[in-house]
Amino acid sequence: MQQTVLRSSQDQLILIEHQVIQVIDSFRQLKTLDKEAGGIMIGEYRDKHLRVTGLTRPGVLDHRYRNGFHRKSPHHQAYATMCWIQSKSLQVWLGEWHSHPEDHPTPSSIDLDNWKSKLPNRHMILIIQGRISRWWGLWDGKSITALEVIG
Ligand SMILES: [Zn+2]
Repeated sequence: MQQTVLRSSQDQLILIEHQVIQVIDSFRQLKTLDKEAGGIMIGEYRDKHLRVTGLTRPGVLDHRYRNGFHRKSPHHQAYATMCWIQSKSLQVWLGEWHSHPEDHPTPSSIDLDNWKSKLPNRHMILIIQGRISRWWGLWDGKSITALEVIG
């Protein structure tokens, strides 16, 4: 199976299945009026490593702007709960993604404040999709570090 492999500064490997990246990539804000998109990612912890296998797309109840995305639709949490039940609690909410209308994105101060106030006390993957490249980050329960793509 095709996947993207990332490595953290603590030598954790993060595997992201190709179809997850494809969906995120499809929400690049290439046109002037394209709004930010976002959702959550689903996956598994394997020892200290993480594997992302699924995601949610934006829903009609989410608030989407040219420069902003607020996850309001209940379908994100519903999908996470369904995966958790169907996988017998193997698959969990493992991170979140959103797009930015910039070529090479970095987290905004709003993004950083949001993550610090809302993310749970465990490791989570964060992705920002730009028009050309992506930013990849790891939340370790307290702080955020950028991840390195190794394959
Ligand atoms: Zn952002």
